[in-house]
Amino acid sequence: MPLEHRDGYVLWEGGPVPGSAAGITLPGLVIVRSGHASPYLLRHELVHVRQWRRYGVVGFSARYVAAYATWRLRRKGHAGAYLRIPMEIEADWVARRSLSTAVRDELAEHIAL
Ligand SMILES: [Zn+2]
Repeated sequence: MPLEHRDGYVLWEGGPVPGSAAGITLPGLVIVRSGHASPYLLRHELVHVRQWRRYGVVGFSARYVAAYATWRLRRKGHAGAYLRIPMEIEADWVARRSLSTAVRDELAEHIAL
């Protein structure tokens, strides 16, 4: 899939994604591994788009790396440290909540009919 311009960012499905990650968000650019653009992942990465805007490039990077490094120093493995980064916790929580709300709203529409 080519680059897709969305509201405030560009989505690149099939672009380069590091390691075992399904997606990565850089300022203004969301890259997802080919075939992994699930509703959850897109919502998750969109939260990171907002975080980049909120903290700026330096602020986001510093917070992200500091949190990861802190947990690695506390002897957590890569996954354990990654899952404890506050931005990842927020992205996961907001994406899950958004999905459950979307399902609820969809059901409400069907029930109303
Ligand atoms: Zn994430």
